[in-house]
Amino acid sequence: MSDKHEKVIIIGTGPAGYTAAIYTARAELEPLVIEGLQPGGQLTTTTEVENFPGFPEGVMGPEMMDLFRKQAERFGTRFVSGMVDKVDFTQRPFKVWVHEDLYTADAVIISTGASARYLGLESEQKLIGYGVSGCATCDGFFYKGKEVVVVGGGDSAVEEATFLTRFASKVTLIHRRDELRASKIMRKRVFDNPKIEVAWNSVPVEVLGDPKVGGVTGTRVKDVKTGEERVITCHGFFLGIGHTPNTEPFKGAVDLDESGYVKVTPGRTHTNVEGIFACGDVMDLVYRQAITAAGSGCAAAIDAEHWLADQDG
Ligand code: NAP
Repeated sequence: MSDKHEKVIIIGTGPAGYTAAIYTARAELEPLVIEGLQPGGQLTTTTEVENFPGFPEGVMGPEMMDLFRKQAERFGTRFVSGMVDKVDFTQRPFKVWVHEDLYTADAVIISTGASARYLGLESEQKLIGYGVSGCATCDGFFYKGKEVVVVGGGDSAVEEATFLTRFASKVTLIHRRDELRASKIMRKRVFDNPKIEVAWNSVPVEVLGDPKVGGVTGTRVKDVKTGEERVITCHGFFLGIGHTPNTEPFKGAVDLDESGYVKVTPGRTHTNVEGIFACGDVMDLVYRQAITAAGSGCAAAIDAEHWLADQDG
């Protein structure tokens, strides 16, 4: 057994991981949280959170995650930064590697969340960091007075587009259909904002520009109905097309569904491996809200606590 043996290891932060930490710490399980490269998860790249109960005036995502972390720390949670690149859940104690460092645990809670998705165009990949971005909150500031585009028609895309109007002179929302998937209140924000134009039935086929000379200059989009192509001038090319679950290290270790999300017992947080639990966006492709993630983090902590108690008894 490694000298880094833990009762519970929580992999990943965000509302699910931090809540699991608060509950397991208060249950005196002395959790170790492996934070990953973006502690706080997706909420650290969002702007104002208006729908988390208890914050009537709203709260900034990073600030909220800082509060969650402090609350977990208050009850003795320890944190390790780094990415988990390998696990072995075939026998107990379970093994988790962060680069060369091996940690073992009696129970593991997976809360690694999901990451922004890219279109996969070669030109897009080449220009990541040179005008192509998956995070409006992180990079919006660089586009003061410039034209930008946001791809997608869901809540994320609409939220990004609205946020970017704070800086950009014009925001074009590029959506592949003729109606937005986003919720009614978010759609209204788009239609009421004079700085936002929607390019309906359109998909980007190329991001134009040179990473060595000024970055993105535009995008060539195709009308999916007519097949016609045109160029939209832009300096920022933002993605808002959804997320991919962060389950790479868990492939083959726990059951995943066809989209890569961790499979759990319906209504619970148990995976197919006894002693391994999952919570938050990594197992939830339906709700994906901070509040539901936090709720499932609490559930995972309680499920882990009960399971560990059964092992002792
Ligand atoms: P989403 O709801 O899955 O929307 C993804 C959008 O991207 C859709 O409009 C989709 O088009 C489009 N899309 C997907 N793949 C594409 C591709 N390859 N090329 C072009 N377009 C593509 O994802 P989301 O907006 O990230 O939202 C996820 C969840 O989080 C939702 O439940 C949402 O309500 C929630 N959320 C809430 C808030 C908030 O309340 N403040 C903010 C952000 C997210 P189609 O519509 O044609 O499928």
